[in-house]
Amino acid sequence: MPPRTAIYPGSFDPLTNGHLAIIQRGLKIFDRLVVAVANNPQKNPLFTVDEREALIAEAIQNDARVEVDSFDGLLVDYARRKGVHTVIRGLRAVSDFEYEFQLANMNRKLLPDFEAVFVMTGEDYFFVSAQLVREVATFGGDVTGLVPPNVAVGLRRKVAEIRGRR
Ligand code: ADP
Repeated sequence: MPPRTAIYPGSFDPLTNGHLAIIQRGLKIFDRLVVAVANNPQKNPLFTVDEREALIAEAIQNDARVEVDSFDGLLVDYARRKGVHTVIRGLRAVSDFEYEFQLANMNRKLLPDFEAVFVMTGEDYFFVSAQLVREVATFGGDVTGLVPPNVAVGLRRKVAEIRGRR
């Protein structure tokens, strides 16, 4: 059987343990995953795309089954370029479902053989979002256990850098 590959797209600003759990579980379904950082400057990200990619690569610890990459523009165009038409996404709550349902259908309209696979988060991480992690870290809160250790270090450094600039 040819290896099965899926793209796991997201902002990953920064990578959280919730994302990592989806990656681990995704690897039970797929042979390979491409974790793809979306470059979306309108979102006013905390970390640059390069920094986000480096944090993911570090946390994954050179797992040969995982490729870390980034893309600009539409996910379907990236999927076409990669020749990988399946994506994996995580679902936390009903609110995620509505958005993801719209997104998956729009993507399928743009790319007919596009498929999305959804993995439901476990009770450990359903409350973890990158946005909340950013907020907590920016105000000096403790994010231990919510993000991998290298991301916690990266967050502390970034927050200190921003404070130094003010
Ligand atoms: P966030 O929504 O945390 O800002 P992203 O835009 O990077 O993060 O999300 C990428 C994907 O990962 C989405 O499918 C999102 O639903 C999923 N995801 C994010 N956090 C979690 C979590 N704690 N558990 C399960 N899936 C998650």
